[in-house]
Amino acid sequence: MSDKKLTIALAGNPNSGKTTVFNAITGARQHVGNYPGVTVERKEGYCKFNDHEITVVDLPGTYSLTAHSLDELVARNFIVEERPDVVVAILDASNLERNLYLATQLIELEVPLVLDFNMSDVASSMGYRFDYDQLSALLGAPIARTVGHKGEGVDDLLRVAVEVATSDRPRDEHIVHYGRDIEREISKLEGLLAAEPSLEQYPARWLAVKLLESDQEIREKVVQRSANWEQILHQAEASINRLQKVYDDLPEVVIAEARYGFISGACEEAVRSTVEARHDLSDRIDTIITNRLLGLPIFVFLMWLVFQLTFKLGEPPMGWIETFFGWAGEQVAALVPAGYIQSLLVDGIIAGVGGVLVFLPNILLLFLAIAFLEDSGYMARAAFIMDRIMHKIGLHGKSFIPMLIGFGCNIPAIMATRTLENRRDRLVTILVNPLMSCGARLPVYILLTGAFFSPKAAGNIIFSLYMLGIALAIIMAKLFRKYLLPGPSTPFVMELPPYRLPTLRGLVIHMWERGWLYLKKAGTIILAISVIIWVLSTFPRQTTLEQNYEARIEAAADETLAASLEEELASKQLERSYAGRIGHLIAPALRPLGLGDWRIGTALFAGFGAKEVVVSTMGTLYSLGETDEESEGLRNALKENLNPLKAYVFMVFVLLYVPCMAAVAVIRRETNSWRWPLFVVFYTTALAWVASLVVYQGGLLLGLG
Ligand code: GDP
Ligand code: MG
Repeated sequence: MSDKKLTIALAGNPNSGKTTVFNAITGARQHVGNYPGVTVERKEGYCKFNDHEITVVDLPGTYSLTAHSLDELVARNFIVEERPDVVVAILDASNLERNLYLATQLIELEVPLVLDFNMSDVASSMGYRFDYDQLSALLGAPIARTVGHKGEGVDDLLRVAVEVATSDRPRDEHIVHYGRDIEREISKLEGLLAAEPSLEQYPARWLAVKLLESDQEIREKVVQRSANWEQILHQAEASINRLQKVYDDLPEVVIAEARYGFISGACEEAVRSTVEARHDLSDRIDTIITNRLLGLPIFVFLMWLVFQLTFKLGEPPMGWIETFFGWAGEQVAALVPAGYIQSLLVDGIIAGVGGVLVFLPNILLLFLAIAFLEDSGYMARAAFIMDRIMHKIGLHGKSFIPMLIGFGCNIPAIMATRTLENRRDRLVTILVNPLMSCGARLPVYILLTGAFFSPKAAGNIIFSLYMLGIALAIIMAKLFRKYLLPGPSTPFVMELPPYRLPTLRGLVIHMWERGWLYLKKAGTIILAISVIIWVLSTFPRQTTLEQNYEARIEAAADETLAASLEEELASKQLERSYAGRIGHLIAPALRPLGLGDWRIGTALFAGFGAKEVVVSTMGTLYSLGETDEESEGLRNALKENLNPLKAYVFMVFVLLYVPCMAAVAVIRRETNSWRWPLFVVFYTTALAWVASLVVYQGGLLLGLG
């Protein structure tokens, strides 16, 4: 039975179609967890093939297997430590040379290997012709061909993989030859390493190459495990020195060049191109899109367009959902007798959760737009365009990608910084990420712009907030890089993948993945916080106050007076509740910003749980504070208490102040200390306060109040 169980690991460059192939193999049978000891996501799926029970593991996408980045370490440790029965390297066949770099390293690891030429449709439309037999012979591994998103060739891939996994035949010895000098040093080290039983688990040649590359992790392993570590490291040092003299360059550079040389040699032999100018179309588009002068304006225009669409197209369905929840509230109020339960249902849950769900259409539209920009290859260009600006602040364009992901949600964005090799670059990118306006802040913007600005201006207002976030992130990054985490930045070559027309299915899946998270959040965290906020704003009851008012209401001469007394009671009760007290406590600090209304203080306080909660809390507070049968609606209630300038300041504050609890937790996890998350909480709040003060006081001076 147990010999029928197999593990297949999928390795590959980012964007090679790894996840697509993974999904094609495993269908819906998936499980997401973390690698033991680290918080890199581990996606596992299951399938059956000829009564083999197969576990498929989607390794992090990497270009290489060095110890420079966490993703690469995780991928390589999985392969070395957990010994999957076969590793399938997913290669983007339309960009073969670059993708083979990772493959050469898998070859060196001497694992059972299958090379999957994915994107073979793109490759053939670009005019590539591969001599598969020859390539397979040169690289020493069988080759399968797939078109991931259509599922073509997947069965065949699985068949080949199972064949390799179940055969006892050791893999043919096929290695990159590094040239006489390096080979001589390799064999010296290899001799020492092979004599170490404690290092048996690793191929000796691979260890030797890694030591020549000054791989920190492998050096540590040798020290920990081998009794003879001093001699080994001494030999490694001597070899590195000698090679450095010979090549006048670090051995790791020469080794990398040798791998590329090997690859280009193999491709020279076995790849034919029938079309001369292969990247023609992508290149032509890029002369405009990444143009020095036009690139940035085009980027800014596209972002502007995204927010216009998000707002305009989202409005009608938003109205329907709003009407629905209004109706639902009335139904519940009619069914459930007046009292705590009714109030909890109507003012707490329906006003709170409903208030957040109303914005689902906008959120879906935003995510659809982001998915389109990502899948088409434009996001990589945006990073490329920003590269120049990012260099000025001591980072590079690669840091811009996590920032763009931050538009969706800061949590995956912070995790995406793992691709940055330099620790300082990574920290700075994490620190400024919360300034990128995530999807959870959008409901706040839409609510307030909808209430205070014309539909024409609303898109622009929202756009200005996103731009403010980017601008402040850039300024803060510059400051952090200069004063907090100084040091040289790592050189890095930006890669531009070819443009690809996104598939509708891909877009919908990507949009839905994120939209679903929003829905889930509304049903869990936001529901819970809504209930808490309702409790905090309903208790403690002031019995003396109530009795006092009840007497006066009964004695009231007419209905209008009674009604206004009731309203007075409700709002007094609310103000004296726990939530009201918190709001009053915070209010003085917000007064200079024009946000002295205690309800805003309460809403901002609650917003630390999740930013959408700012909206749901306002919903609850304003709906508890009034007793009319027909709700006036949150927008109207806001209009009575704020003006356009104050609304804008409010949005600036929400944009900048503390990231949500989950983001803080992720920063703690990713930086492995409390220092950085606390720093983020502190500096973002200070920045929010100062920026809001400047906007408010400036606005007053300009007579906008
Ligand atoms: P990963 O980063 O390696 O996980 O890549 P994904 O699986 O997310 O794929 C990146 C993009 O390539 C997606 O838009 C896929 O739909 C697309 N894609 C994947 N495989 C193929 C393929 O064989 N042909 C074409 N034309 N597109 C593909
Ligand atoms: Mg993927």
